[in-house]
Amino acid sequence: MKQLLILILLTAALSCSREKPVVVFEETMFVMGTMVSITFAGLEEKKAQKLFHDLLTDFNYMQAAWNPWKPGSLARVNKLLASQEPFSIDPEIRKMILQASELSTQSDGYFNPAIGKLVKLWQFNQDEMPSGPPPSKDAIGELLASKPEMANLQINALNLINNNPAVILDLGAFAKGYGVDKAVDYLLSQGVENAIVNAGGDLRAIGKKGDKHWMIGIRDPRAAGILAGIEIHGDESVFTSGDYERYYEYQGKRYHHIINPKTGYPASTVRSVTVVHQSAAIADAAATALFVAGAKDWERIAKKMQLDQVMLIDSEGLIHLTPKIHARLQFEPGAEKNIRLSKAFQ
Ligand code: ADP
Ligand code: MG
Repeated sequence: MKQLLILILLTAALSCSREKPVVVFEETMFVMGTMVSITFAGLEEKKAQKLFHDLLTDFNYMQAAWNPWKPGSLARVNKLLASQEPFSIDPEIRKMILQASELSTQSDGYFNPAIGKLVKLWQFNQDEMPSGPPPSKDAIGELLASKPEMANLQINALNLINNNPAVILDLGAFAKGYGVDKAVDYLLSQGVENAIVNAGGDLRAIGKKGDKHWMIGIRDPRAAGILAGIEIHGDESVFTSGDYERYYEYQGKRYHHIINPKTGYPASTVRSVTVVHQSAAIADAAATALFVAGAKDWERIAKKMQLDQVMLIDSEGLIHLTPKIHARLQFEPGAEKNIRLSKAFQ
């Protein structure tokens, strides 16, 4: 009996010494059409408040500058694209367009930020959710025939020239990630070691929470709650594109905001795609690209984009995984039976 008591006390003492209390700061802001939450672990309250307000200023700037339709840097570019004359662009927009072009090429055009007119035709450019009806076949066909592509843009040191008036830039599938990267880079520059910048469930996390790894939940695309969890190691981004966040139903059919640039219609073979990558910008663009590539083509595109941590849930609910993400995900009970491990990544 005494031995047992000593053992219990010893265990209690050990767990006390292992668990250092950690101060966690978390605040949210509504920017770029979503709730952005900033979490710090082990940071003094005053510094945390200051950094939160710095990020609030930055995100407010980004949402105005990068909106394709409301006055700002990107809307200015969109206006000038129609002229087909060379014009100057600001350095940050230039950097974003260059990276987005590269990702568009790598994804064989599944990620195509030049389809702003198509997104507008579907009315997914609006803050409010459209209610249908979907656009006519003819209107979609006309826009597809005009072939807007990132390759239509020629970018030199200062100027941009466009050779296709059908191009309107919508960076919506990539700008959130780019902004999250900017926020994390700023925090790193300020000496922050342990933080999460979470934009509506898409996030980049650095460091740890005390002596524990950050644990991130990935949403079930068809049920309330979490499908799986993943522990963050070091500095990683986890981004998901899904058909469940921005959609409307019209005459019993679901129309969502991720458009297949090859058909002009919402991509239809997938419920959600999650990508893990160090860069939030790449993870964001890649999740959209693989969502459009769909159950048949995602492995080829993932390899082309040099991604090795992908989870794709198809329209039947089957969970396709690369081996590397499979080894890390901690699934909720029952999910395991639907797993299909990809053989394309050996
Ligand atoms: P979310 O922003 O909801 O996380 P995504 O990152 O997948 O989702 O971005 C979807 C947005 O990107 C759409 O609202 C639209 O503005 C734009 N978009 C839609 N289809 C494409 C596409 N194939 N390539 C590039 N951008 C797209
Ligand atoms: Mg995206």
